[in-house]
Amino acid sequence: MPPEKIDEYVETLLKLKKELDSENFTLRLGLEVDFFFENSQQVVKDLESYPLDYLIGSVHYAGTFSVDHDSSDWVPLSKEEMKQICEEYWKKLEGAASCGAYTFIGHPDLPKKFGFIDNDAYLPHALRVLDAVQQSHGAIELNTSGWFKDCKEQYPSSKVLKEAALRRIPVIINSDAHHPDHIARNFSAAAEVLKAAGYPAENFNIF
Ligand SMILES: [Zn+2]
Repeated sequence: MPPEKIDEYVETLLKLKKELDSENFTLRLGLEVDFFFENSQQVVKDLESYPLDYLIGSVHYAGTFSVDHDSSDWVPLSKEEMKQICEEYWKKLEGAASCGAYTFIGHPDLPKKFGFIDNDAYLPHALRVLDAVQQSHGAIELNTSGWFKDCKEQYPSSKVLKEAALRRIPVIINSDAHHPDHIARNFSAAAEVLKAAGYPAENFNIF
């Protein structure tokens, strides 16, 4: 979203909130923020003037490479280049998790999206992110959109979710919907994955 569109975005949501909020429904205003070491503090500061209920801290870029744009971007890469991209991705995600500015961390193991990498090889990196989330009293999302991509599983993997459960890190189930039909897609499957990872069902909150 171009920065000059944020005013319109917030105004539209506030108007809809007035119309739609009821006893059974609460519209919350949020933004997904792309994390860069170079400007993250300034971006978060700039957003403070908006009445946002939550910020998602996500990483989509390693350098100028978009990890989730198109599978064809990955095709010409060597194993070593893929490794460098993943290392950079996880370093940035750890930075996002450490700063404590975000309500939750988005799609934590996104580089697996197109099925080009061995995601389990980055478990130690994911654990460093979880440790940072725990220390900053943050949260992560279980993003169900991964089920509909080449990786065919939620973000993050069940192995990461098990470790998150051990650290008592709160998880929000999110569908990352880019179309109205995709809202709340696979939420019950996500709840099962969380239960299997060790999140007690009695702790689930349905909003
Ligand atoms: Zn994203």
